[in-house]
Order: sequence, then C-alpha cells, then structure tokens
Amino acid sequence: MEGPYHIGIDDTDSLTYGCTTYVAANIIEELIKEANFIDYPNLIRLNPNIPWKSRGNGAICLRFYSKKNEYELMDLVLKYVEEYRDKLDIKNQPGIVILKGDVPNIIKEFGKKALNDVITLDETISLLKKINTIYYGIKEGRGLIGALAAIGNTLEEDHTFELIVYRKNYNRKREVDIESVIKFDRETFPFTFNNIDYESGRLLITPHGTDPVLFGVRGEDPEILKISLKIIKFKDADKWVIYRTNQGTDAHFFEFKKIKSLKPYQVAIIKGIVSKKPVFIEGGHVIFSIADDSGEIDVACYEPSGNLRMIVMELMPGDKVIVYGGVRPLNNKITINLEKLEILELINEQYINPICPKCKKSMKSEGKNKGYECKKCKIKVKEKMKITIERKIKEGIYLPPPRSMRHLTKPPQRYGMEKRKWNGIVEEFFGKF
Ligand code: ATP
Repeated sequence: MEGPYHIGIDDTDSLTYGCTTYVAANIIEELIKEANFIDYPNLIRLNPNIPWKSRGNGAICLRFYSKKNEYELMDLVLKYVEEYRDKLDIKNQPGIVILKGDVPNIIKEFGKKALNDVITLDETISLLKKINTIYYGIKEGRGLIGALAAIGNTLEEDHTFELIVYRKNYNRKREVDIESVIKFDRETFPFTFNNIDYESGRLLITPHGTDPVLFGVRGEDPEILKISLKIIKFKDADKWVIYRTNQGTDAHFFEFKKIKSLKPYQVAIIKGIVSKKPVFIEGGHVIFSIADDSGEIDVACYEPSGNLRMIVMELMPGDKVIVYGGVRPLNNKITINLEKLEILELINEQYINPICPKCKKSMKSEGKNKGYECKKCKIKVKEKMKITIERKIKEGIYLPPPRSMRHLTKPPQRYGMEKRKWNGIVEEFFGKF
C-alpha cells in the first residue's frame, strides 16, 4: 500500500445540479474495495461569505492508503468528477488536489485562512507548486482553492459528523416522513442537531433542489447518526456515507479583527460598543452600528434571523458586545451580516435632560456647560439627570433560529460539548440500500 494520500475535491456542482459530496460518495464506493481509510471522508465547510459559492461552500477530502499511485488515483477521481459535474454551468470550475504523505503545516495554515478570509487562485497555485502535490483544475480551476483547503483542515480539534443518504431518482419529490424525523430528533437530543426548525415547522435535513441528497443528519458521533437509518422513514435511497466535518463548530470564528481592517467577504469578529440605536428597515431587517478604537460599522440582522432581531432591537448605545458575522459590500461601503451576537455588558443607567419638578416636562439645554431650564416654569438645573434603565435582555450569546444558521455555526446545544481531539478510530462509514 502507498500513502497516506489526501485527495481534495471542490466546485463540481451548481445551484441546479450535482453535489460535491455525491461525487465523493461514488469515488468512495469504488475506492473502499481496496483502500485503507485513515479517516472518515471529511466534509469541510469554508468561508461562508464567499460570493461565488453555490450553497454551503463545502469541499471534500479523502484520506487513505491505496495500492494505486497518484496518477491512477487522479484518473479515477477525474472520471467521477466528469461524470457528475454540471458541465452546462459557467460557474462550475472543479479542482482536484492529491497530496501524498503527511499534511505540511503550510497547508494547514492555508486551510485555516480559507475559513475566514478570501484566497486567490494565484496564491493557491503557487503553493501547490511548492509542495509535493499533483493537481488538476477544469476551466479556471477555482475549485483548487477549496480542494487544497479541505486537505489542510485536518479536524484535529472540535468536529462533528454528518450521515448523508443519497437517492436514486433526482427528479422525484423527496419522501421523508416528518413525524419520524421529530421522533429521531427527540430520541437523539442533544447529540444530533438542526434536524428541524420547530419555530417554523421546517424540516432541515432535506435539501430542496434537484441534487442527489435525500437527507443528511448531523451529530456528535457516527453511532448516534446511524440510528436515523432505523427511525426515519424514507423512500428511494441508494447509498449512505458518514462524513467527519467542521459543521456546527464555529471553526470560522477564531480571530478578532479591528473595524478599520475589514475587507469584503471576510469573517468578522468585532468587540465594540453599540454606537447607533438599532432600527427596523424595509424588508424587516434590523440595522445598528458598533464602534471600536479604529472606526464604526453598520451591522445588519436580516429578516430570516427571526427572533434574533428582537434581541438586537433591545440594544442601546453604550452596550458592550461582540459581533460575529460576514463582511458584505453594500452601496459602496461595508456592513457586517450578523451571525451571532455576544452581549458582554449592558448599560443600566443613562443621563438625560432633567425633568421639570413642577410641570414634569423635559427641560431644555441652555448651551454647552450652561445648564438646563424649563421655559414655562422658569426653573433652572445645572446637571443632567441620571436614570436607571430596566433592560429586557441579558448578557449572553444569541443566535438565529436553526433554519437560518450557517453550516459552520455552533448550535446552542453544542456549547460545552466541544471535542478537544479526535480518537482516530474509523468505523463503517459507507453502505448501500
Ligand atoms: P456545495 O455546498 O453544494 O458543495 P458550494 O457552496 O461548496 O457547493 P462551490 O461550487 O464549491 O460551492 O463553490 C465555492 C468556490 O469557492 C470553489 O471554487 C472554492 O474553491 C472557492 N472557495 C472556497 N473557499 C474560498 C476562500 N476562502 N477564498 C476564495 N475562494 C474560495
């Protein structure tokens, strides 16, 4: 056997067709006959703010020993990429990278950067040339970025698993019984997550497009996920694969930044003070501003964020917060698209213009340092008045509902359940129906 091989694959699908994990599932079906896998197939989610992604910015890495050499492996992978990629889609630019040996730190660093920043294809190709890889890009080969980043994300610390069931007929309506999913969710809580959005009644394990995925369940370990195959009632299944992934781990949130340094499409974590009161704007979105010692920026909490908007609306200038999100260019400036809010300190007193003790109306300022006067009652007061504010919200972490969480976002139930390392044991991860 030769290896270990690490094969990264990305950008094989489009909005209407295919799925990179399905290409991987077919490669696995063939490889598993002879290869010795040293890890579950890895499903790596990368920077969720990349505008040229088709859905969840996912890439795949397969890690194994094989009797085949790199060139035979490249032929095999390419055969499946060509068979299943969306050839009609101009955006589709598959990339395949094969690395033999241990993953060098420089690729791990590249993989980390791909989680919270924007990487150019030139930067990727010059790194590919430096290290011991063979690679193949179709068209411009933009998928090489995600393919190499998937190799670099070795999931040594926190990770979760996803069991994906693929279907036979892509054009049929999916038949997955919602009652059985509720049962699965109840029986496996808190060890599986984001099966259902109870607020809207929406099933979250099934995609809605014409791709080959029937459903995917996410959770803490492979065994808990296999329970889905017994409890969930579904039709038209072909095969299943269990992936080890960075989904639900907040892997993209690892670096605080200053407002002034932010660039479009980066992941942002900003510690600052609320500087402008939140307001509702057309479409049901909420906008407020925060400031740090380098500048000020608008933060948008969009309508799909549901009740998170109600929390945001309660913020007041002066509150200390950490804002987690993605940087979006909008009307010639940048905004943070809020993914998670941490309230560190809420102000509970405020200085306002004094109230006239006689008529109970707000007094007017007489100018800077000149005090306040009630024009009607002719009463004068020197200082502003301190009032205590009753706050309806508390310090803590606030997230959008499961239906609008990013794949990478850590759901509430996983706080405290994070894994420090992987045990390295690879059990059954592929099956046919
Ligand atoms: P799916 O979730 O169905 O697999 P997708 O959302 O992963 O689809 P892709 O079709 O893979 O979308 O497109 C994402 C593209 O963005 C790929 O070409 C990938 O190489 C590239 N990409 C990924 N991360 C980054 C990054 N950090 N910087 C620049 N480009 C990136």
